[in-house]
Amino acid sequence: MYVPAVKYLDEYRDPELAHRLADEIRKVTTRPWALMEVCGGQTHAIVKFGIDELLPPALSLIHGPGCPVCVTPLELIDKAIDIAARPEVIFCSFGDMLRVPGSAKDLLSVKAAGGDVRIVYSPLDAVKLARAYPGREVVFFGVGFETTAPANALAVHQAKREGLRNFSMLVSHVLVPPAMEAILGSPVNRVQGFLAAGHVCTVMGYHEYGPIAARYRVPIVVTGFEPLDILQGVLMCVRQLEEGRFEVENQYRRTVQFEGNRPAQELMREVFRVIARKWRGVGEIPASGLGLSEEYAGYDAEIRFGVAHYRAEEPAECLSGLVLQGVKKPHECPAFGVRCTPEHPLGATMVSNEGACAAYYRYRRVPVTRPSP
Ligand code: SF4
Repeated sequence: MYVPAVKYLDEYRDPELAHRLADEIRKVTTRPWALMEVCGGQTHAIVKFGIDELLPPALSLIHGPGCPVCVTPLELIDKAIDIAARPEVIFCSFGDMLRVPGSAKDLLSVKAAGGDVRIVYSPLDAVKLARAYPGREVVFFGVGFETTAPANALAVHQAKREGLRNFSMLVSHVLVPPAMEAILGSPVNRVQGFLAAGHVCTVMGYHEYGPIAARYRVPIVVTGFEPLDILQGVLMCVRQLEEGRFEVENQYRRTVQFEGNRPAQELMREVFRVIARKWRGVGEIPASGLGLSEEYAGYDAEIRFGVAHYRAEEPAECLSGLVLQGVKKPHECPAFGVRCTPEHPLGATMVSNEGACAAYYRYRRVPVTRPSP
């Protein structure tokens, strides 16, 4: 099918082109398939623009674990809260982490109680604060996938270069390919093809996905975030499934190259090392995260503030682990929209801008039956 080259944002949302792509998807789909969009940004676009409603009923989109706020484990939030409440600390974070519930409270309540918790827009803002307040301990909450890791690595690198001993980072970085393998290896897996996260691949390239596609016999299509990107990614994925191919293809060519961003990867390798990480609601996945390397261990807030030993149990009521693995849809959680709302979230998937529960709630895709008062 011919899709004219587009350049501007509104063109990537062109309804006529979207319908043409949806028609093509309907034409090539001959049997049921289940695809997972890895990234929460893609999930929000799918729900916001009603992309799943354009697809044939045989095709299901499963929402994946690609929301970094959502997968940050409870105990990391508890560690952040402990550190942020200390009088000597300026605790810096992106805004979306402030309302993620820990075991007993969130970072916003620490701020309300007088803790110096600040929203920053770049990890380098935290480095600036460390420079400006040499008598205070400045801690940055470094959360994210491979996408944000280079900027966070740069902040620690810069602090070391300047000899800023009052800067540290609470690291909660996770990696996408091991999570995809964990999903594919799960006994409850339903995923037959992946739309891989375009921004992660902008940094890392897509050379890591070849062995996964071959081992598990799943097509993987690197996909962008606009409606036409997602529809084209779905079309490429379904075509492969229908033809019995299991390859890695790149829909997001305007941004992603096979090797990714080499200088960013080098910086990540210098500052971080690959470690096992716990994913909220999912559990520990081997080699699925990043921690500070030996050379930068002096900047590790967990060590500096003695909180590395924290452990916490996830609340049983929140099914976000099943939502993150694509086993349940958000509205299948009994608490959805009733006891759990963006104003009073029980789980991170209802808080985050990229969380599936928040997307379903915000775009009112599911009628919510509230109990009578
Ligand atoms: S609706 Fe709330 S309680 Fe249910 S899975 Fe989502 S975040 Fe957890």
